[in-house]
Amino acid sequence: MDDSLSFESFFEGAKKAAHRAMEDHGREEYDEFALHAGVAVERLAKAVLVKRNPLYLVEMRNGNADLLLYFGGDLDLDTSKVRTVGAGEALRRLRRMGVLPPDPQLDLLIELRNGTAHTTIGDQAKTLLPTFSETVMILLTAVGTTSRVFWGRWARTMIVAVDKQLDEIRRDVEIRTDQARHLFEDRFKGLSDDVKEQVLEGAKPQALRFDPGLDPRWLDDLPSSGPYFHLSTVDCPACEGPAMVRLLPSGQDTVPTGMDMLYCNLCNLYLIGQDEVKASGAKSPFQGSMHPPLITITGVGPIPVPDPEQAAES
Ligand SMILES: [Zn+2]
Repeated sequence: MDDSLSFESFFEGAKKAAHRAMEDHGREEYDEFALHAGVAVERLAKAVLVKRNPLYLVEMRNGNADLLLYFGGDLDLDTSKVRTVGAGEALRRLRRMGVLPPDPQLDLLIELRNGTAHTTIGDQAKTLLPTFSETVMILLTAVGTTSRVFWGRWARTMIVAVDKQLDEIRRDVEIRTDQARHLFEDRFKGLSDDVKEQVLEGAKPQALRFDPGLDPRWLDDLPSSGPYFHLSTVDCPACEGPAMVRLLPSGQDTVPTGMDMLYCNLCNLYLIGQDEVKASGAKSPFQGSMHPPLITITGVGPIPVPDPEQAAES
């Protein structure tokens, strides 16, 4: 039988597609995520089928027995003539065999991958991560492999994705933090320590004044109660580089307490809202005896940018 139809080939193909799916999800490219996740499930499903019995890969169409004989090892066929069962049918067989439970969410993922779903992909695919993770775990159990072997650095993220004990925000933030960390690792892969040092140094936020140079993201969703906010650097919960947090004053007090936004230039981790920042475990710059590394106090609302022509006249 052709090597590309071996267990190893399906398994490795599934692994590659699954890792790409996680990277897509981290970059918020959910169309690509649906595609790669669907391919990963399909290949892993076929890995299970071929391991149980190569005959289970046979596509039953047309009543032609050639493929049956080929997969049974008694007929040579030109590889261009060899077809295997489609994704939907592979899952149906695994359900008949009691390996996979029925799951409408998984069916949707396969429909999105096949482009046959009567829905837009985007956000719908985003929410299919737990389904993807759960399905992969069931299939890995069926072939007797551990999550670590298949998922490598994503193993922890996958456990988090299906952990029903965690509340939704915590789960979401942990997944995004892992994704940001891996994105950061990929960017730094192969760079020398010197270069890394320089990049880290360059990423340190400069002292900010409240001027037009301030990134407008920090002005989003400011509560009307707080006329001022503070910006400070903290250790990024994903990549440990310098991330910036926005701190809001607490009530009448001008001492900032609540961190309600975090952005890291290096790994692009972007957390919005006190719940998300809290869930990330980022340490307040006011914790401990050390002075906060960098603090700027700013007012609210965009300051008008002076017209350069007028400025030149005066
Ligand atoms: Zn970071």
